[in-house]
Amino acid sequence: MSNQLMEGLSDQDFLRYSRQIMLPDIGNKGQIALRNSTVLIIGCGGLGSSVGMYLSASGVGTLIIADGDKVELSNLQRQVVYRDNNLNQNKAMAMAQQLKGLNSTIHIEVISHKLTEPELSRFINQVDVVLDCSDNLPTRHEINAVCVKHNVPLISGAAIGWQGQLMLFSNNVTENNASCYHCLFPFTESHQVQNCQSFGIVGPVVGMIGNLQALETIKYLTQPGYMKWDSIHQFDGRSLTWSSMNIPKDNQCSICSSTVSNDVSRETNAIGDICHE
Ligand SMILES: [Zn+2]
Repeated sequence: MSNQLMEGLSDQDFLRYSRQIMLPDIGNKGQIALRNSTVLIIGCGGLGSSVGMYLSASGVGTLIIADGDKVELSNLQRQVVYRDNNLNQNKAMAMAQQLKGLNSTIHIEVISHKLTEPELSRFINQVDVVLDCSDNLPTRHEINAVCVKHNVPLISGAAIGWQGQLMLFSNNVTENNASCYHCLFPFTESHQVQNCQSFGIVGPVVGMIGNLQALETIKYLTQPGYMKWDSIHQFDGRSLTWSSMNIPKDNQCSICSSTVSNDVSRETNAIGDICHE
């Protein structure tokens, strides 16, 4: 282990993070683990806003944030990391500025264009976990394929209307039954892609899912044993109810299954894909 990885926390660090360091599950060791971690956040919309703010506040050492879009007036209702004066600015750049204002001690790397698959493949080996906060299905499947290929955990969030979804994939090769996003939502070129902009969305719902993505990331980086991988958790904001289920591996999945078996008894999942924000 290098000196930098073993280096302790400064007095300022102890003060800044005192309320999470005092948790026995986190402590100094967990805080140092957060500091030494790199998290890739793809998409700086409503999910990315919450994820970015909570992960920078909690002291994740390096955040790589990617988004090629500009901040629009209609974003401000739920993409709460932005301010009026960020309008028309690139989202990743504007978010980096806000996150630096929140915690100047962390390192933020900005990708101010849509992350391409080759770039993602290049970045993937530098990161401990990927957070999918993107807003369209093709991108989500591209991210999934790269994470599966490189065995990097993927924490996905999605929200539309009053509904939100949180999905957790370990992509761990040592777990034979590890499933992936494609097992849950099989995707083909002919797949009907929903247009997210034609659906309404309640700001706190997307914020809540983003917060949970941040929570799961902190858990993974400090207490990985707490993770409930290969699961989906769906929230209904009207009834305040949650439904959760394990995601079974699709033995015929073209992304995560190297062998095709005859086991096609897997149930079609009851929760349909929803638009992503
Ligand atoms: Zn799969």
